[in-house]
Parts: sequence; C-alpha cells; structure tokens
Amino acid sequence: MRLIVRRKRLGDRMIAAVGLLVAAAVAVLLGFAVLVAKRVDEASAARETELARAHLAKLSAEMRNDLAQFARWDESLELINDRNGREWIHHQFGVRLHRLSGHDMSFILGGDGQPVYASVAGDLVSPDAYRRVQSAVDSYAGRVRRAHVRSAISDSTLGLMGEFDPPSEPQFIVAFLRIEGRPALVGVTTIAPTLRRSSQRQTEPFVAASISFLDEDMLAQMSREIVVDGVMLVENQQGSRLLADAVGVRVPLSEGEAQSWLVWQSSAPGAAMLWRLSPALVALMALLGVATLLVLVYLRRTTERLNQSERRATELAYRDRLTGLANRVQMMQTLAEWLADLPRDRRLALALIDIDDFKSINDTLGHATGDEVLFAIGERLTTVAGEQGVAVRFGADEFALLAPVGAGEGEVLAVCRHIADAMRNPVMAGGQFLAVGVTIGVAVAPDDATEAEQLLRRADIALSRAKADCRGNYRLFDPRHEEALHRRSAIERDLQHAIANDELSVKFQPLFAADGERMVGVEALVRWNHPERGIVPPSEFIPVAEHTGLVVKIDEWMLRRACEYASQWPGLSLAVNMSASNFRQGKVAERLSRVLVETGFDPRRLEIEITESMLLGANSEVLGELSELRRLGIRIALDDFGTGYSSLGYLRRFPVDKLKIDKSFVQNLGITEDAAAIVECVTRLGRALGLAVTAEGVETGEQHRFVRAVGCHQVQGYLFSPPVDAEKIDAMLRPEQPARPHGVMRRLATA
Ligand code: C2E
Ligand code: CA
Ligand code: CA
Repeated sequence: MRLIVRRKRLGDRMIAAVGLLVAAAVAVLLGFAVLVAKRVDEASAARETELARAHLAKLSAEMRNDLAQFARWDESLELINDRNGREWIHHQFGVRLHRLSGHDMSFILGGDGQPVYASVAGDLVSPDAYRRVQSAVDSYAGRVRRAHVRSAISDSTLGLMGEFDPPSEPQFIVAFLRIEGRPALVGVTTIAPTLRRSSQRQTEPFVAASISFLDEDMLAQMSREIVVDGVMLVENQQGSRLLADAVGVRVPLSEGEAQSWLVWQSSAPGAAMLWRLSPALVALMALLGVATLLVLVYLRRTTERLNQSERRATELAYRDRLTGLANRVQMMQTLAEWLADLPRDRRLALALIDIDDFKSINDTLGHATGDEVLFAIGERLTTVAGEQGVAVRFGADEFALLAPVGAGEGEVLAVCRHIADAMRNPVMAGGQFLAVGVTIGVAVAPDDATEAEQLLRRADIALSRAKADCRGNYRLFDPRHEEALHRRSAIERDLQHAIANDELSVKFQPLFAADGERMVGVEALVRWNHPERGIVPPSEFIPVAEHTGLVVKIDEWMLRRACEYASQWPGLSLAVNMSASNFRQGKVAERLSRVLVETGFDPRRLEIEITESMLLGANSEVLGELSELRRLGIRIALDDFGTGYSSLGYLRRFPVDKLKIDKSFVQNLGITEDAAAIVECVTRLGRALGLAVTAEGVETGEQHRFVRAVGCHQVQGYLFSPPVDAEKIDAMLRPEQPARPHGVMRRLATA
C-alpha cells in the first residue's frame, strides 16, 4: 500500500513536472518571440531616427539650395526700392520660395542691414515685417555679411580685382532657430552681384533671409519620408517624457533655446507582426495546451490504472481467493506489526484451526463441496474475529485467528470455545448438512513468543498436540510440547542408527493360561538402549518409527530375533507386534515367511498382534495378506481391543484368532463401573465368535480373579511377570531354578 501511495505521489509530481515543463517551454517561446519583436522594433526605431536626422539635414541642404539661386544676382536687384521693381522681385524671390519650396517668410536686407523687402506666406508685405524675426535673424545676417566682406578683402589682396570686380563668394548660414516661439529652419545668405558690374559695394552686400517653420506641412512631409504615422512637434520637457514610449529626434536648435522634439509613434513592425501573429500564436498555444492536457489526462489515467492493478495484485497477494480472508502472507505481516507495538497490558492469541478429516470430505463429496465447506468456515471465523481480530485462511484446510486478549488463561480459552461453538452447527454444503469438526492449537504473545515466526511455530506445536491427543479439541501451547517435539525429532534422528548400532534388544513377557500358573507363550517387546538417553520406552519411539516408516525394519528385526530365541522354547507360542505400516507396505506374508524359513521357526507357533485401528480403512489387500498369514499357520491377535472402534463387523470380516483386552480396562476393574462390563462383554463376544481372549496388564489378584471368572483364556501382566530377557525365560522354563516370581514357574515346569 505504501508503495502505491508513493507511486501516486510520484505520478502526481511527474504530471506536475510535465505541465510545468510545457508551460515553461511556452513561456520561453513567447519570451523569445517578444524579444525578437522588440529587437526588430528597436532596429526599426533606430532606422526611423536615422531617417529623421537625414531628413532634417536634407531640409537644411534644400534651404541652402533654395537660397543659392539668389546668392548671385545682377543689378536688377537694385530695383528693389522701386514699386514695380519690388513687385517683380517679389515674383522672382518671395513668391517662388513660397510656392516652390514652401518658405513661410522671406526677407531681403539692404547693405545697411535694414529690411528692403518682406514676403509673408507668399504675400508682399511691408519690409517692417522683418521686425518680427529680427531678434533671431539679425545676428546671422551680420555674420554672413562679415564673412562676405572678409572673403572680398582676401580676394583683392590676392590681386584678383580688375576692371570688373570678381564677385565675392556668397556666404550661407542655415540653422534651426526659434522664430516667434516656433522652431523654424532659417536660411541666410549674402547676395553677391554677378560677374557684370555691380553697383553694390562688396562691403555692403544685400542679405536674403528665408524662414520655413516646422509646421504641419513639413511634419507631414517628414512622416512620408520616414514612413511613420504623424510626426509631431513636441516642446521642452514634455518631449523627453513623450520619448519614453515613442521615438523622436531633437530639433537641432542652437544652444540656450528651449528644446523641441520631433516625435512619432514608431511603426514597430515587430510588435505589429506579433499582433498579427497573435491569433495564430494563441491558437497554437491553445492547441499545445490541449495536447498537453490530453497527455496529462492520459498519463494520469495510466498511473491510476497502474495503481489500481497494483492494488488489485497486492490484494490478490494478501487475500485468499476462495474465502476472501487474509492469507498467510498478510497474516504474518499483520502479526509482525501487531507484535511490534503490542501494549504492555495486552496479549495476542494466535489460534491455528485445522478442519478434521477435510481430505475425506474432498475425496468423497468432491472439491466443489469442499470449497463450500471452506467458504462457510471462513464466514463463521470472520464473525468470531469481529472488529478486533483477523480471520485467516492459512493453508488448504487450515485457518487461523488473530485475537487480542487480556491477561490470564481464561480469555484465551474463551477464544477457543468461541471458535469451537461457531463450528458446532453442521455446514450446508453440496446440498446436505455436514458436521465439521475442528482442532485448535493456540499460542499467546508475548508469553509463548514475541516474534511472529516463533509464535506461529508454537501455535503449530499446540495444534499438533491437540491433533495427537484427540481431534475436535483445543490445546494451548505448553513448553513441554516443544520439549517433546525436540525429543521426538532427536529420536527420529537417532533411531536411524539404532539397528545398525545394535542398540535394540528384545524382551519377552510371558502369557499364562487363565489360572495364571501355566506359561503358554511369550510376547516379544522391543527395547531401545540409547547410549545417552538410556532405555527409551517403545511407547515413545514406536510412534516416531511409524511416522518415518522405520517401524517396518524394526518389526522385521524383532521378528527375526524373537524367532531365534523362541526356537529354544518349543512349548511356547510367540507373539510379535506388527505395526500397520507393514501392511501399508504390502507383501507382509512373503516377508514373514522368509524370516520364518531363515530362522526355522514353526509358523503355527507364531502370533501376530495388530491393532483395531489398522483394520479401520483396511482394504481387500490387507484382507488378503491376513488370510495368507493364516494360511501359513500364523495366528492373528487384535491388540488393545476396546480402545478403538471395536466393531463387530471387523471381527466377522477379518480373519482374527484372538482378542487382547486392553490393559486400561483391566486396570480400571473395581475403579470405574463400566470396566467390568466391558471386560465381561468383550470376553463373551470373543468366546461367542470362537476367538481366544487374553486379558492384558493384570497386576492384582482381584483383577486376575475377575478376568478368569468371566472366561478369559489367557492372562498377561506384572502379576505374573514383567517383560524379561530371554535368559530369564530360559530360567523360568528350567524347573530346578530356585528363585521364581510368585513361584509360578514350578507349576510351569509340569506343564
Ligand atoms: P502392547 O503390545 O500392548 O504391549 C504390552 C505393553 O504392556 C508392554 O509395554 C508391557 O510392558 C506393558 N505391560 C505388561 N504388563 C503390564 C502390567 O501389568 N501393567 C502395565 N502397566 N503395563 C504392562 P511396552 O513394552 O512398553 O510396549 C508398549 C507398546 O509398544 C506395546 O504395547 C506395543 O504396542 C508397542 N511395541 C512394543 N514392541 C513392539 C514391536 O516390536 N513392534 C511394534 N510394532 N510395536 C511394539
Ligand atoms: Ca502387544
Ligand atoms: Ca496390548
């Protein structure tokens, strides 16, 4: 889960990163476009400024050219004081300058500097009109006149003068000046006579002055020239302020004058291009945005789907499919987490629940029915688990329950009872009600273990114990169980070498006739003398040997040794125990007869002791084996009769010669009420079926009397003799031997 959350966060972060990246890319692109536009605009503005400056220079040049045509004039100029002459000059000079070159005011000053002619807006006016511009123009007029004189003097000193004075070079000044408060282009020039005789003295030349205001016309012309919209004339500080967002050039007015600016809105082709491209750009950006959005949505969905499938996979990994319960993996994880922060005053019970004989449900009713049973059990266990606990399907037919419990054994036992109660009612499966038994093993943390694995192992030990003790039961873990288990596995290990190391030996326990005086046979009982553990009782190692299958070897070894010994006791029958494993392995008759042949033992003296439980589930092969044994002359005894199913059906179906009443009944004679009834009943049953009946474990005279009274044919028990060495049996068979238990051997000798 944590992984998924981390992945989700990662996915979100990735999506955010992609979004940001695309946004950044768009921003960079836009920025770049704006920058390019700005550069283009700057370049364009610079070009416009350049053009404007050039235009101003051109205006100056034009002014000079306009005046230049009057800079040399013949004597006709002298007609200026004549009215008609003035009219003529006006047409030649003022009107022409105004019409052709757009000059606003034109003046001619006489040699004395006094105005002799004035034209304003193409009209001939009184020369006094010069007074309007005199303050600005006079000094320039003086300057050209002085320059003209200087040049004339230098010409004459060079001896250039003759009959016809060579004309002095005309002098020009063109400047931007403020006239009547308005900026204007002013041109001033001396008027020099042509080569022909001039009456005008060189030292007092006429001066022509013409003024062209920077007016609408001029600005319009300039606009056309530099290809911009509306060049404006802006005065003073206002200009520099306007310049911040517009383009312009300063009118080159002479120093000290209030400044004027020619200003225009730059054509800004870059911005215009941007503006024109903007719909396309917006569309592109929208497209990019949509595409990014789509990609992000797709990305999001994919991560979501990935997370979902992962969540599902995790669920599958942690859940049992059939029952929907937590599985073993989940349980171990939960267990580890719970154990890690288990409060001091709390304990945790782990109950392992095994369905009794589930295999036979599966085998006889089919897997579908088996699944139904498992599902029903799962549901019931979920109810038991409630809010606090966790129900787990642990294995094929094993469940588990994790339940928090308080101090004391009571609560743990209550959990067990709760589970057992929940399973009590039959389960509806495969269209029928099935009684399902469960066996429960419980371990409790932190008492039994503090770690998950160990707790589980100990619960398993408790379960094994519960199974071994009696199914349909529950057991709490007990350290002794574990010791026993260890001992068991040690036995399992050591038993492998027991036969080879000659650690096994045979004891014989005599069987007597009912009177308890005449020895009629012996039962061979195995003994294991372990080099370290000492004598290990068969009740401890035979079940282990059965479990590992080693018991077959032990039994065969026992048979051989017993036969060897018993060959010397011709009057006695020999009983040998045969575990069920022999029959499961098959060829019992064959193997036995081989041993008999090899030892030369008479089969008719041999008695094989098997248990009832072996007959349970025995098939025709077992039946065949038993029949074969009997055909060989070997007799069959049912050992520990009464502890198992004690079915009359078995006794009739299987070829049996003898019943051995289990010692637990004999020993309970006079202690529990049913013991006498059972012993009597079994004896009668045996007799009725024509079987020999032996009472085992007879320890007291009373027991002996009772079993004899009810009709047992034979008796066996400590009252007569414990299991002894072969030598002792030899001795017992020798009449002259003085020391005899209970003095029975004396009587034996006569038998
Ligand atoms: P079992 O076949 O019922 O053997 C009789 C057991 O009762 C023997 O225990 C014997 O010592 C004990 N016994 C005899 N008289 C008395 C008595 O008066 N009081 C009490 N309390 N016990 C008495 P043992 O020798 O410890 O054997 C235990 C079991 O081990 C046997 O029970 C038998 O089932 C199994 N066993 C022994 N030897 C072999 C063997 O060679 N092969 C197989 N498969 N099982 C064996
Ligand atoms: Ca026996
Ligand atoms: Ca027995």
